[in-house]
Amino acid sequence: MSETEEKKAVACPNCNQPAIKQGNEIACENCDAVFTFSKTGAKVKSVGKIDELDKRLTALEEKQNAQQPAPNQNESGEPEIDEDER
Ligand SMILES: [Zn+2]
Repeated sequence: MSETEEKKAVACPNCNQPAIKQGNEIACENCDAVFTFSKTGAKVKSVGKIDELDKRLTALEEKQNAQQPAPNQNESGEPEIDEDER
């Protein structure tokens, strides 16, 4: 009996959807990702869409932060202009 490459149905550590565990790796179709398990915990071995999306989001956020230092003017000081003359 070999217990090295046995496939098991488990829950994805990321999205909790059904995933397949094989050895110390968990492959999730929903995340399009493969996680590896070790004594230190779960690690992401490879990801598809999620990783790209995350990178794009991070890049976008960094761009916005760089372009707009502090766009916080409309937060409290709303100019009350009533052009309702009759
Ligand atoms: Zn998942």
